[in-house]
Amino acid sequence: MKDIGLILGIRPDVIRASKIIKLLNNSSEIDFDFIWSGQHYSENMKDVFFNQLNTPFPDFEFNIDVTNDATTVASIIKETYSHLENNKYKAVMFLGDTNTVMGSIGVAQHNIPIIHIEGCMRSYDWRMPEEKYRKTIDHLSDRIYSYLPSYKQQGLNEGISDSIIKVTGNPIVDILDEFKDLFDSGVDYLNDDVKKFTNNQDYVLVTCHRRENILNQKSFERIINLINSSSKKVVFPMGYATQRKLKEWGLKLNENVLVIDPIGYLEFIYLLKNSSYCISDSGTVVEEACILGIPTIQMRYSTERPEVYEVGSSIKFDPTTEALELDQVHSKANELNKTEWSHPFGDGNSSEIIVNDLIDLAKKNEFNMHKKEDYDFDTSRSFLK
Ligand code: UDP
Repeated sequence: MKDIGLILGIRPDVIRASKIIKLLNNSSEIDFDFIWSGQHYSENMKDVFFNQLNTPFPDFEFNIDVTNDATTVASIIKETYSHLENNKYKAVMFLGDTNTVMGSIGVAQHNIPIIHIEGCMRSYDWRMPEEKYRKTIDHLSDRIYSYLPSYKQQGLNEGISDSIIKVTGNPIVDILDEFKDLFDSGVDYLNDDVKKFTNNQDYVLVTCHRRENILNQKSFERIINLINSSSKKVVFPMGYATQRKLKEWGLKLNENVLVIDPIGYLEFIYLLKNSSYCISDSGTVVEEACILGIPTIQMRYSTERPEVYEVGSSIKFDPTTEALELDQVHSKANELNKTEWSHPFGDGNSSEIIVNDLIDLAKKNEFNMHKKEDYDFDTSRSFLK
C-alpha cells in the first residue's frame, strides 16, 4: 500500500501544486502516486506546465468523457473508484474546487481518508458550482490544508472539526518565488506578434474563463465592453470555451485587443509582470498579480478571495450589472498602479509545510485527523424507546 494518491486535473492545479509534487516525489519518507483526472488535456493547458515548471508527469491518467460537467464528474468518480480497486493508498488528496475534486465521492465510497488542499475557501455565493464543490469536499475530508486563518475560521463556522484543519499559507507564493529568476526568459516563448505588440508599450493583460461570465450573454457582453473601452493595448490569452462563446454570440473586440490562444506559465507571468494592470476573472491570476505588485480589475460578482480587495490590489467589476463609467474603472486601476501593498498569502513555505505534515501523518498512519468526539454520537438515539 502506498501512502498517498494525488489527483489533479486542470492548469492551475499543476502550477500551484508543482512544488508539492516535486517534494513528494523526491522524498524517501513517503510513497506517492500522481494521477491526472483528464479535465484539461491539451498541450497548452497541461503539458507545457509540467515542462516549464520541471514537474514530473503523472503516473496515471484517467480516460474521461469531457462532453459536459456532468459527464466529466461522473467519469472522474468512476475512474477514481476503479483506480482505487487496483491501487491501494492510505489517503487520497485533491486540490481546489473543480470537477476533479468531485472524484472524492469515489474515494469516500471506498472509505479511504480524503485530504483537501485549498480547503474552506468560501464565496458564500451558492449559485456557483465551485462553492458547492468546495463545501462537499471539505465536509468529506479527513485532513484539510487551508491557506489562511480566515479560511480555517470559515470551516469552523460550518462545524468542521478544528483538529482536521491546518493553516499552511498559499503555495502559489512558493511557485512565484521558485521561478522568479526565470520569468524574464518568458519573453522568448512569446510569438513575434505578441512581442511586437507589447514591446515598449503600456498594455493591459486579460483573462476570462468563468462559467458565470461566459455562459451568460449579458455578462459576457459587459466584459467585452469593458475590454473594448481600454485606451491602452490589450493582450488577451483566451481559453477555448471563451473563444467559442465569443464566436457564437458574434461579439467583436477592438483593433487594440490582441487575442491569442492560452500560453505557457513563464510567458504568462512575464506578460503579467510587465503589464500596467490585469483584468481577470481567474482565482489564481488575481493572487499572482497581488503578489507581484500588479493591480487587477476582478470581473466577479462574488469571490472566495476577498483579501485582494482588503489589501487594495484589486477593484471589483461586477459583470451582472451595468457599469456606466467604464473609463472610471480603467482609471481606478491605473491609480492602483501607483500604490503599494503587502500581499497576505504567506511567506513561500506552504508546500513544505504541507509535505512535512503529510510525511508525519504517513509515519503515524493517521490520515484521519478527526477526533473520536467528532463522530461520537448519542447511541441511545439508535434504540427504540
Ligand atoms: N495562466 C497561464 N497561461 C494563460 C493564462 C493563465 O499560464 O494563458 C496561468 C496563470 O498564471 C495562473 C493559472 O494559469 O497560474 C490560472 O488558471 P485559470 O485562470 O484557468 O484558473 P483559476 O485560477 O481561475 O482556477
